[in-house]
Amino acid sequence: MSATSLEQVSDTLRRAGEYELAVAPVGLGAFLHLGGRPRRYDVALCLDRLNSLVDYQPTDMTVTVEAGMPVSQLQAVLGENGQWLPLDPPSPDRVTIGGLIATNLNGPARLSQGTVRDFLIGLRVVRPDGSVVKGGGRVVKNVAGYDVAKLYCGSFGTLGVIVEATFKIRPRPEAQAVVMLHFPSADQAMQFALQQIAALQPFFLELSNCDPVRPAEAPSGFRLLVGLAGVAQEVDYQRRRLTELAGQAGCRLEHIQGQAAHALTLALRDFPVSGPAGSVGDDDQLSKSPTVLRCKTSLLSDQVAEFCTRVEEEVGLRGLTVRFQARAGNGIVYSRFALPEGAPPDQFVSLLDWLRILVKKMHGYIVVEQIDPDLKDRVDVWGPSGGAFVLMKKLKDSFDPQQVLNPGRFVGGI
Ligand SMILES: Cc1cc2nc3c(=O)[nH]c(=O)nc-3n(C[C@H](O)[C@H](O)[C@H](O)COP(=O)(O)OP(=O)(O)OC[C@H]3O[C@@H](n4cnc5c(N)ncnc54)[C@H](O)[C@@H]3O)c2cc1C
Repeated sequence: MSATSLEQVSDTLRRAGEYELAVAPVGLGAFLHLGGRPRRYDVALCLDRLNSLVDYQPTDMTVTVEAGMPVSQLQAVLGENGQWLPLDPPSPDRVTIGGLIATNLNGPARLSQGTVRDFLIGLRVVRPDGSVVKGGGRVVKNVAGYDVAKLYCGSFGTLGVIVEATFKIRPRPEAQAVVMLHFPSADQAMQFALQQIAALQPFFLELSNCDPVRPAEAPSGFRLLVGLAGVAQEVDYQRRRLTELAGQAGCRLEHIQGQAAHALTLALRDFPVSGPAGSVGDDDQLSKSPTVLRCKTSLLSDQVAEFCTRVEEEVGLRGLTVRFQARAGNGIVYSRFALPEGAPPDQFVSLLDWLRILVKKMHGYIVVEQIDPDLKDRVDVWGPSGGAFVLMKKLKDSFDPQQVLNPGRFVGGI
């Protein structure tokens, strides 16, 4: 079912309830692999034709759009006035505004800009019984009632179908540059990141064990990719300061500017979906491997180096390959594991067991973002749901008592 109006969305959900059908909201389908496999699925409710710009006030710095608009299209409209929604999810041309909110996607700029809940000021949602609710408003200073809009951030389409969203927006940075610093180990890179770079104000700060734009090259050491943005003098000052700090620490530094900086920034943004089973980029062993395992681990920033080091050692012993890219200042590590040619894919199941034990010891959590569909039923992609689960379950039962929306997709089979 491809909806072209709010009424159609409402009608579809109401009827689904009557006939006890399960509905999966779909944007452009790019991130349907995230989360668990729904237990039941009868209707795909496509929102991509509900894609209009509803209201844009450049002077107030707010915009309202329908949920099916691709993120890249919204950015293009805002770009005409030198503005943007300061979120840089992977593959923005394949992500709708609804999907962006439902999966809480973000990118390297999360460090300096924040996540979708920081910009969402209003939301129109169709609830599973077909009723339409509106949370928040169209002005930045909106203080009426609970901030229900934020409830839908990261809800994976299990609470309601998002049909319209209002965001506050920001001016685009005037100048941007990237500085790449080379270190022999993750530990040295992270020490430099946390002790030296933290005093500056990077736009992004990524740690990687591969060259993001030349991923086929064998990994050697670790790189810190420091994004700088703002007015030209500010960027210039930060570049000079970084050069001094790198000199004092004796590490190699490359200034990347213009087109090269742009290409590098896009490669960093797309890492969580690039390579095999994604649409972007290419990668040596990874490109030959028919299956990959992609995980997202959330830790404290000062645990990132230990995690990468221990995982590299373990993966080496198992004869596998791993590429990391970490949001060094946020403690989030994206890992992409590949098997050697001909190796049985179920090796990933035991690797995942090992990873879960490691991450539990570190009091973090790890989520499987992509795995061979045949293996998906053998692993719990979300992992242990912890103390918040009782509340999450109560919320789901009260919002969607008939389990119409994406049943089974979210944590603990919600
Ligand atoms: C054990 C556990 C307990 C939590 N308790 C709370 C809480 O009390 N209050 C709260 O606001 N948030 C809690 N969360 C997080 C919440 O479920 C969302 O992951 C989070 O709010 C999304 O915001 P983020 O920007 O921090 O996450 P991000 O890291 O950006 O998450 C991205 C997406 O992944 C999903 N996600 C990733 N891992 C998990 C997971 N294992 N469980 C659930 N969702 C996951 C989120 O839904 C989100 O959409 C908890 C998560 C876990 C794992």
